[in-house]
Amino acid sequence: MAEHSYDYDLFVIGGGSGGVRAARIAAGHGAKVALAEEYRMGGTCVIRGCVPKKFMVYASDYGRKLSEAQKYGWDVKVGGFDFAGFMANMHAEVDRLSGLYMSGQVNAGVTVFEERAEFVDAHTLKLVKSGKTITADKILIAVGGTPWRPDEDELPGVEHTITSDGVFHLTELPKHIVIAGGGYIACEFAHVFAGLGVETCLVYRGETVLRGFDMDVRTQVHEGLKEAGVRVITQTVFEKIEKTDNAEQPLHLTLTNGMELDASVIMMAVGRRPHTKGLGLEKAGIDFAENGRISVDDYSRTNVENVFAVGDVTQRAELTPVAIREGHAFADTEFGGQDRKFNHDLIATAVFTQPEVGTVGLTEAEARQEYGNAIDVYKTRFRPMKNMLNGKSEKVFMKVIVRQSDDVVIGAHIVSPDAGEMIQMLGIAVKMGATKAQFDETCAVHPTIAEEIVTLRTKWVPQVKG
Ligand code: NDP
Repeated sequence: MAEHSYDYDLFVIGGGSGGVRAARIAAGHGAKVALAEEYRMGGTCVIRGCVPKKFMVYASDYGRKLSEAQKYGWDVKVGGFDFAGFMANMHAEVDRLSGLYMSGQVNAGVTVFEERAEFVDAHTLKLVKSGKTITADKILIAVGGTPWRPDEDELPGVEHTITSDGVFHLTELPKHIVIAGGGYIACEFAHVFAGLGVETCLVYRGETVLRGFDMDVRTQVHEGLKEAGVRVITQTVFEKIEKTDNAEQPLHLTLTNGMELDASVIMMAVGRRPHTKGLGLEKAGIDFAENGRISVDDYSRTNVENVFAVGDVTQRAELTPVAIREGHAFADTEFGGQDRKFNHDLIATAVFTQPEVGTVGLTEAEARQEYGNAIDVYKTRFRPMKNMLNGKSEKVFMKVIVRQSDDVVIGAHIVSPDAGEMIQMLGIAVKMGATKAQFDETCAVHPTIAEEIVTLRTKWVPQVKG
């Protein structure tokens, strides 16, 4: 540990997933650790991201399940949705979790400052509320990201919009919502609101949502949004937003294609940015990557020897479990005498649309770019058994991509109820380098949706036109 010329061996800025894990593990290795959090312990994931979002997904899914249950013999009537009651329950759980994050730190011996910390120099931080100055041998930046919106010059009336942060503070369920974007957040919330009975419109600048995902997945999700009742408008963006006297739909939106829409709430889900403004990174001499994120190496080291960064603030994947693993590896390496770095290959991920997306490994386009035609693609699209009785036409989609040279599965993509759960398990096999033959040898669990992943036998042949 450091000669105690510094107040702490480690100072962590940010009490989100990556920061708290790093602080707790470093303290467990015997380091003297402090952490500063300016808002609430838990960060984006617990306070205004994954956790409350998933509760909203569950809430909207209950509505759908109730209406489907009638075909299964249940005498249920879908009455109103008590938004305020649900939100109160949700926030109570978020409060409980935030409390656990705090007690976890305290029990590990971490000193927590409930205020903002900013750099004075590479070893010195200023606590903004108390005015204290603190020194540390090593500093970990784990401040995460924040929703981005264009400024007023670019989008007049943008101040009338909310972002995903604002969703969790809505006091009543809007009658109509327009959502900008076609990424994770836009697609997830479009399903949430549509499922809660809100008239929902998604405006996306591209042609098919979820850029970066496998094209078949994108098409399936795009069509799925429409089947769920979402009005999807593509290849256009917001031009201006005006406030009107209409009590029910007080916002009037003009799109660049000339269309006009009225809405009670407008949500911008057009990406997130690192939460570094005013942090004083320049005072510590820290370099940024091209996209404004902090540039780090495999060990989460910045260009400044004693300063590290993990999670969404860095140029790597913006996912909670990734931040946790990066924070843990950092603490083990710097304070536990181990040589650990997190391997970012083959990270399985889910998009909580309804149905969900689960994906791991290469998309077909990426695989073709890397291996040309030396890949085999297996795919299936079918109506799951449950929907035979409940009248839903919704289909499940599965795709497995195999490298011909060694039969290894290099990509798996699922759009299905519980695809997030499936891809977690499938991620193990893919990470282990399982071959298609091993998938085939695995006995099916019947009757399940997931069994189709081990019964895919027919290679998909691309259609050649002409
Ligand atoms: P994404 O980067 O996923 O999507 C941003 C969307 O906004 C894209 O569709 C993009 O279009 C569009 N866009 C960007 N700039 C503009 C603009 N100026 N005008 C109009 N549209 C624009 O961001 P999200 O905010 O949805 O999510 C951020 C990240 O958070 C995700 O990438 C993911 O890593 C993480 N996340 C993970 C979740 C999960 O694990 N389930 C859930 C939520 C978030 P285009 O496609 O053309 O670039």
